[in-house]
Amino acid sequence: SFTIDLETFATRDGLLSARSAQMLVDNGAYNHSGPSVMANGMQVIASLLRVPDVEIDARLVYTNKQPGGQFRGYGGPQVAFAVESQTDEIAAALDMDPVDFRILNANLAGDVTPVGWQIHSARLVECLERARDEIGWADKKKWAGSGRGVGFAAAIHVSGANIYEGANKSGAAIDITGDGVIRIRFGGADAGTWQKTLLTQFAAEELAIDSTRITVLTMESHQTPHELGAWSSRGTYMSGHAVGTVARKAAQKLRELGAVTLGVGVEDTFLRDGYVVSGNETVSFARIVEEHCSGLLTLEEQIELPIDAVNRETGVANISGAYAFAVQAVEVEVDRETGKVKVVDAVSVHDSGVAINPIGLESQIVGGMAMGIGLALGEELLFEGGQSMTRSYISYPLPRADDLPPIRAVLIEEPDPNGPYGAKGVGEIVLVPTGAAVANAIAHATGVRLYELPATPDRVLAALDGGTTTRRASLWRRPGRWWIEGMRRAYPLGAHWLLHRIGRRFARPVVPLALTTIARPTSVQEVADALASSGSRVIGGGTDFMPARRQGVATASTLVDITVTPGLSTIATNNAGLLLGAAARLDDVSSYVAGTPFDVIQESIDQIANPQIRSMATVGGNLCQLNRCWFLRNDFMCYKRGGASCPCYAVTGDHRFYHAVVEGHRCQSVTPSDLATILTAMNAEVNVMSNKGAHKIAMTGLYKGPGETVLASGEFIASIVIPHAAAGSGTAYAKLNRSSGDFAMVSAAASLTYGIDGVITRARVVLGAVAPTPWVVSDAEELLVGSRSDEAIATAARSWTHHAHPLSGNAWKVDAATSLLERVLRTAAQRAKESGA
Ligand SMILES: Cc1cc2nc3c(=O)[nH]c(=O)nc-3n(C[C@H](O)[C@H](O)[C@H](O)COP(=O)(O)OP(=O)(O)OC[C@H]3O[C@@H](n4cnc5c(N)ncnc54)[C@H](O)[C@@H]3O)c2cc1C
Ligand code: SF4
Repeated sequence: SFTIDLETFATRDGLLSARSAQMLVDNGAYNHSGPSVMANGMQVIASLLRVPDVEIDARLVYTNKQPGGQFRGYGGPQVAFAVESQTDEIAAALDMDPVDFRILNANLAGDVTPVGWQIHSARLVECLERARDEIGWADKKKWAGSGRGVGFAAAIHVSGANIYEGANKSGAAIDITGDGVIRIRFGGADAGTWQKTLLTQFAAEELAIDSTRITVLTMESHQTPHELGAWSSRGTYMSGHAVGTVARKAAQKLRELGAVTLGVGVEDTFLRDGYVVSGNETVSFARIVEEHCSGLLTLEEQIELPIDAVNRETGVANISGAYAFAVQAVEVEVDRETGKVKVVDAVSVHDSGVAINPIGLESQIVGGMAMGIGLALGEELLFEGGQSMTRSYISYPLPRADDLPPIRAVLIEEPDPNGPYGAKGVGEIVLVPTGAAVANAIAHATGVRLYELPATPDRVLAALDGGTTTRRASLWRRPGRWWIEGMRRAYPLGAHWLLHRIGRRFARPVVPLALTTIARPTSVQEVADALASSGSRVIGGGTDFMPARRQGVATASTLVDITVTPGLSTIATNNAGLLLGAAARLDDVSSYVAGTPFDVIQESIDQIANPQIRSMATVGGNLCQLNRCWFLRNDFMCYKRGGASCPCYAVTGDHRFYHAVVEGHRCQSVTPSDLATILTAMNAEVNVMSNKGAHKIAMTGLYKGPGETVLASGEFIASIVIPHAAAGSGTAYAKLNRSSGDFAMVSAAASLTYGIDGVITRARVVLGAVAPTPWVVSDAEELLVGSRSDEAIATAARSWTHHAHPLSGNAWKVDAATSLLERVLRTAAQRAKESGA
């Protein structure tokens, strides 16, 4: 991660005059690409927009984290966030339009930046103008402060940088055989960027032949010339020069040999469709090669570009043959009550020289900007004591299609004089401006600026209220919390250290059992009998148990697979209500309830995980899944994993999203099941069985802790019954998560019944992911019953906050939950009224 302290100076008429930066870069525990990533960041600070004087003091710091490496943009996204956020701030201070201000300071062809970058082609001005038009700035500028806003950011990037020995070189070979095969040999790998296609295009251009007749051999170091590969946005740029050159020489050779065969001068020949042509005479490439080259014409070339090597003393050097430019504009919607930011429109305008393959270029741009939106809104590597708790994608919220706007790629084409066929690079630049554009759009929408990314709800809410509200109800009102408060306060004073250093030695983690049997019972009684043996465990889709087993937090020697047991996957409606067998799959339930009075369950299920998980996961498994705390799931020997002598890492660690704000005890995590929240609000009843018999539990009594049910050993959930709602009832559900399919940071469900006089006669109000168990908001229920006014809803939604006992970093959830709850109550009230109350 980068921490950048930036100071920029401008004249009163809007010209940038100087920039001074202090940079601190977290390099992790070992050196990899850290120094050169930092160096590229420094060069971008000096080159992005025209700024004549620059002073940068950058330090790379070793820390006890995993080593930092290079990533798309190579330090560019980090520094562009600082530079381009500040560009907007300067424009505002000068009372200038942010796009006009950038146009005034845009890099132009012929410029040499303070670090020696020689710009031969630059259409940054046109990119800015086009982005402004595409996003509709003229109409949207007036939105300032409305919750919806537009932001711009510009970027500059190299097209292959000469930062390693030989990085200004590229090699390629071509083989043409006597049976007409044309093959390029190239040492780089196509990392999904369509590079192979580009190579055929370059060769086809020189040989005047259809590109489909050319094959490419890559990733075969024995047969390909030395090539440093696709990094530093050099894929098109360097391979274009190398393959173009070798193919051009092959074309010349074919013409020379063809001229001999045809008995004409070389100057009288040209190539067409695999033939050397002179007047009406032709001779095929194949025949030429057969006759003159014993069946194989091979040429190999190593090109070397006349660019400077990186200067490690002064930092001043023209390290690339061409510099690409881009401008992105995004439109965002900021939910001021929950802090959630959604990008609703996005355009990325590029000066990448000539578009050799416009579709490939567009794909790079759209994919890159999607990646940038992920970095801007959610993706974050998190550590505790040097140990990562974001080791898998489940806790690293990559955006999915649902989270993304339509992304439009626009190309402003102008040949670069140095570029192969006029092209410049595009691979990395697309990621450079997105974070800044999103931050600028948030500032336009809300009037507040974020100085840290990603723009997660906690940060947005903190920025909106200036971070002044603690939202912690005074402790004297909750004497039951005193010991917890005492414990939390003792953590930073030494308790954490003691439990972490010494307590963990006495940990009692789950003892792994060898998994020997998978039972497939053919009756419910057989399930009960199988579960009576020690070491056996019921399993539904296995989507939670199997990962939990690998993570060392669950075990079994026998798995009892109830998805094959007749009767346990039933989904039916009868007099008692909706019956869901415990082994019913989530997507089957969702389809069944669609369009029925129970369809609010679909609203909840469709926000769980993804279609693949929902097609496997079962109702019982969802309700009984283990808690999702990222410390627990990532090997931290915490209280929940190791017992009372171990610390809860959430107290001092990152607990912004998935930990309790109400009722947390030694374990601060929550029950993650979304179904649990909605089914509690619908007054569901759980049918529990064992070989000792059957009994019922109300959903409100199913849990005793985070992801912990009251089921005794040998007991399992057989089914759930959700009663029919009384006439005049409405139910609603809502969830706040970091990206679609992610676990809830907060969820809310409410079911209201109105009498014929318009008075609420029954209310069930539940919050999920705020307490260890689905939390019935009794204060709200009491306020609502007997009321009829809209005001009662607003009051009820806030009524519970005196119970809140958040940790230092998750108090924002109290505000978010209050807002979500109010929305859910209003929707439930509306639905109740529509149902005929
Ligand atoms: C990427 C991802 C995202 C997710 N996002 C969400 C989300 O947003 N919201 C959400 O609610 N969930 C989410 N989940 C959790 C997912 O819904 C669960 O993995 C799933 O519901 C578990 O169902 P299963 O049938 O596979 O359970 P299994 O893995 O089979 O079982 C889970 C646990 O329940 C126990 N169990 C199973 N059936 C019974 C029964 N009948 N009686 C008693 N105990 C039983 C098992 O012994 C085991 O301990 C996500 C999971 C993944 C992998
Ligand atoms: S919140 Fe619970 S599961 Fe998470 S670290 Fe603390 S004790 Fe462990």
